Amino acid sequence: MFLTLKQGTTEEGKNHILDKIKELGFKAHISEGENQQVIGVIGNNVIAKKEIFESMFMVDSVTPISKSYKLVSKEFKEDATIVDVGKGVKVGSDQLVVMSGPCSIDREDNLLATAKAVKASGANVLRAGAFKPRTSPYAFRGLGLEGLKMLQRVGDELKMPTVSEAMTINQAIEVAEYSDIIQVGARNAQNFDLLRELGKLKKPVLLKRGIAMTMDEFFMSAEYIASEGNTDIILCERGIRTFETATRFTLDLNAVPVVKKFTHLPIIIDPSHGTGVREYVKPMCMAAMASGADGVMVEVHPIPEEALSDGPQSLVFDQFEDLMKDLKKISQVVGKK
Ligand code: PEP
Ligand code: MN
Repeated sequence: MFLTLKQGTTEEGKNHILDKIKELGFKAHISEGENQQVIGVIGNNVIAKKEIFESMFMVDSVTPISKSYKLVSKEFKEDATIVDVGKGVKVGSDQLVVMSGPCSIDREDNLLATAKAVKASGANVLRAGAFKPRTSPYAFRGLGLEGLKMLQRVGDELKMPTVSEAMTINQAIEVAEYSDIIQVGARNAQNFDLLRELGKLKKPVLLKRGIAMTMDEFFMSAEYIASEGNTDIILCERGIRTFETATRFTLDLNAVPVVKKFTHLPIIIDPSHGTGVREYVKPMCMAAMASGADGVMVEVHPIPEEALSDGPQSLVFDQFEDLMKDLKKISQVVGKK
């Protein structure tokens, strides 16, 4: 449930409520709105203690949250969350956010060339994997720490925030040190211990939807991160598994209005993994922005046939430039700059 405080409640009054929440064994999550202070009270059967809070004169109202996810729900926070990922990029704002780069880092010169090309076309976040989840244990699994260092150097040189995946808690600590956003891939979207640890790190998290996750399960995964104190979460729809084989996955754009209706978190769309086919990436990016997404993630490689992962879905520089031209037009229609 959440408590809406009366206007003019003093720090002392607020601390009294926070002490009570702690004393009852619950967790408090404060959300400061423009002219309203709200405290989320999370714990087992909090509703049983509703009256205690209703009796406090600093509390204006006590509202139960009907959904099983609480802190990420629209019921808890009406205003859209804007995730500041650094270097002037704010996901969920009126900026068109385009995260682009190779699937995996192979060589620093390739990464630098890609970053320069995508930035020149208008991308504002550099994506690149150093720890790669691969279906086959024999496939290239990323350059690891060496790759992260390359990513940091290139991101700094081009003044672009960076995003990179972590599959384990130890990797997450390393990614947090070298990159601006920690990506949780589809395969780890329900790795609850990892999610909890990410909640403790003070870094934005890009949470991809698992390939067989319902929207409610997706939101519960985000709740794992939020419940540990980190609400800098960007959701990412990247395709789900269906009976369809013409595409690698089925990109579920329904996710956009559903996310906007039930949560306050921003959502971006990844048509590269969602389709798995280079020529489908542009149309689905266009559809993503038209549906109200906050941005897209697109894989780009200078020579896709030499890419060590996901070459077939990677755009070359010219294709990315062409995509950005049209993406900018459609973004204006939906109020993104
Ligand atoms: C990726 O972004 O390269 C990736 C592996 O994504 P996903 O987890 O969506 O498959
Ligand atoms: Mn990939």
